[in-house]
Amino acid sequence: LEIHLVPMTMSGEEESGLLLVLQDVSAIRRLERMRSEFVANVSHELKTPVAAVKGFAETLLAGAVNDPETARSFLTIIQDESDRLNRLIGDILELSKIESRRSPLQFSPIDLPMFLGRMKELLSADAARKSITLDVQSEEGLFLEADEDRLGQIVMNLLQNGINYTPEGGKVKVLAEIVVDEDTEEELVRITVSDTGIGIPKKDIPRIFERFYRVDKARSRSSGGTGLGLSIVKHLTELHHGTIRIESTVGVGSRFILELPLIQP
Ligand code: ADP
Repeated sequence: LEIHLVPMTMSGEEESGLLLVLQDVSAIRRLERMRSEFVANVSHELKTPVAAVKGFAETLLAGAVNDPETARSFLTIIQDESDRLNRLIGDILELSKIESRRSPLQFSPIDLPMFLGRMKELLSADAARKSITLDVQSEEGLFLEADEDRLGQIVMNLLQNGINYTPEGGKVKVLAEIVVDEDTEEELVRITVSDTGIGIPKKDIPRIFERFYRVDKARSRSSGGTGLGLSIVKHLTELHHGTIRIESTVGVGSRFILELPLIQP
């Protein structure tokens, strides 16, 4: 709570008064704290790959370049870390674009079975590399009003996570169906992305959509994650007036349940 005393002089009167203003600033302070935490996190996340690139370049220049095998392995690290840096910058820019509402969504009708088929194609090589079965099921003729690129980002992020956090030989499935909201009786499209992966501990589920929150930092890193995918998913879902929730059992698998209005309100 902030207290301000503002002196007042009434016009034409000698007597002056004091105005007491009580202002609840907790929401503002919380926002400021979140913002500065985010900036600190971003700096840390960016510095790590830059330090790696610099370190390995220096070692190469100091002589390691003369051993072809070492040189090749260090250059591969430099390449991977530069890719990570690129992904991070892309995700940070995307998040800031979404949050500042600079690019409004462009809604159009989307043929969901066709759309999901395309997503599957885009990820089939990634899935095949880990011998993961990618299965898409959707009612025929299911149309949904959405921003096609943004819906693509949502579904791609969920599918990519499914593949990343599922061991070799597992299964990732997308199911699209129409459901009726019990409260509003409104028709919704439910897209469920489920996997037979490592699962998410109960205590982590409430925080999983936070920026840079990861259950296992090393694992996220080695799978190329930025820690921003799910916060982008959450934002984009909200911009579509939808909801997303998670059901998960450690060691068994996870299910991300996305519900979007059939027609945008
Ligand atoms: P990341 O780039 O680390 O994957 P995300 O924001 O996409 O970042 O996800 C945040 C964290 O949530 C991940 O680091 C991982 O711990 C957990 N997670 C996300 N999807 C899954 C999943 N399908 N199975 C298990 N854990 C998951």
